[in-house]
Amino acid sequence: MKTGDQFLVKQINKSIVLETVRHHSPISRSQVSEITGLNKGTVSSLVNELIESNLVLEIGEGKSSGGRKPLLLLFNHLAGYAIGVDIRMDCISLVLTDLQGHIVERIHLPLQKSNQEYVVGLLIEGIRQLMARTPSSPYSVVGIGVGVPGIVDEEGTVLFAPNLQWRDVPLQRWLTDEFGIPVVVDNEARAGAQGEKQFGAGQTSSNLIFLSVGHGIGTGIVLNRELYKGEMGFSGEAGHISIESRGEACSCGNWGCWELYASEKALLRQANKHEWGKKSLSLETLHALASNQDPTALALFEQIGEYLGIGLANMINIFNPELVVIGNRMALAAPWIEDAVLRTVEKRALPYHQKRMKIVFSHLGTDSTVLGAASFAVSQFFTKTRVLVD
Ligand SMILES: [Zn+2]
Repeated sequence: MKTGDQFLVKQINKSIVLETVRHHSPISRSQVSEITGLNKGTVSSLVNELIESNLVLEIGEGKSSGGRKPLLLLFNHLAGYAIGVDIRMDCISLVLTDLQGHIVERIHLPLQKSNQEYVVGLLIEGIRQLMARTPSSPYSVVGIGVGVPGIVDEEGTVLFAPNLQWRDVPLQRWLTDEFGIPVVVDNEARAGAQGEKQFGAGQTSSNLIFLSVGHGIGTGIVLNRELYKGEMGFSGEAGHISIESRGEACSCGNWGCWELYASEKALLRQANKHEWGKKSLSLETLHALASNQDPTALALFEQIGEYLGIGLANMINIFNPELVVIGNRMALAAPWIEDAVLRTVEKRALPYHQKRMKIVFSHLGTDSTVLGAASFAVSQFFTKTRVLVD
């Protein structure tokens, strides 16, 4: 074998050992050897290097099967941090997580308008604030992940975000230039699916649809445990599937799109047709009205639930998922939409597809996207570590 190959083999083995410690810690060296199939001597020397690199810690004593008690290895989740961002219509949500996705800091920045100079300026300001608050650690902030409500290409350029009215914004490049660390920009629903798969309801699901219902609608699709991207990374724009063939015009150029009938935007538009003190309503005020059993508010949520169910039945028939997770802001209205969603899907999706399929509302609140975005940055760091840490 050539020296270069040996070096590569060593790097790959080291990353396998690190992955094993990450997912099974606390774990002994001999258990790592059993799981990976690498011999004990190799594991020991790789573990020592990982300890020197601060990615693995040694703690206490584990159970012995006779002889000296082994020291246990722990993944050092505080060796570095990641920043996760969710750009929404009315705010930017930012979190700082450790390498295992625990949120340690959080910033919420309300948006007064959606033009790109203003939003990106505020975003950079928010990231700076989080960086200043990052606890000291060997690797500091390893990367930034950003979820955007729009179509994002493989270079992290936002080609089109209809609700923000952005076109061709090279966000990933701008942020990389600004901060000099790796940045991943992706669609917010795909980041949300990643968040649910890593930390939420989807951890054990191989085939999962994350339905992000906020101002618009997006979906993140996990097939055979992998986030499905599509040929150019544009998959999941389910908010723009046609629900009404002669429906209203949508900002995407189509008519009768799903998100015109089942999103927060749809709910508020319907609500503002009613006379509730003539104030412009928010999702929160409608929650309050529904909590007080206001019949109009309840009917509006019921209607949203029905439309969500109609689109979902289509998705379920196409993808045959094991799990559908409904997340983003509309998930907060679960008490008033759940029955209508479930009833409509039951009526409309093929019965075969419903047998082993579950629909749940996210347990991560509105954090699916920020957590998934941060997790993109962490996975990229570990993919790179494979080559860089020596
Ligand atoms: Zn549309």
